[in-house]
Amino acid sequence: MTEKWQEKLSCALHCARCDTKLKPDEQRILSVYDHNPICLTCKKEEEARPDYEETSRNMIGSCMAETELLYSDPGGYCYFHFYPFKC
Ligand SMILES: [Zn+2]
Repeated sequence: MTEKWQEKLSCALHCARCDTKLKPDEQRILSVYDHNPICLTCKKEEEARPDYEETSRNMIGSCMAETELLYSDPGGYCYFHFYPFKC
């Protein structure tokens, strides 16, 4: 992955989970399990998983550490696992 993560992830054309089409101005959010952009319906399902809380807590720690070197804005990248964003 490159610094272009924002463009690549935020402008994905499909939900990585259910394959629903995502328009550029439609909100999407990153999965804490695999960092793929997913639709808000799939996020609700993800949040209902019994290990979601633990996984998201672990994700944010490793996300900040791992992406610091890869991305100019690791905070933004990690933040989008919890807050919907647009292309
Ligand atoms: Zn979906």
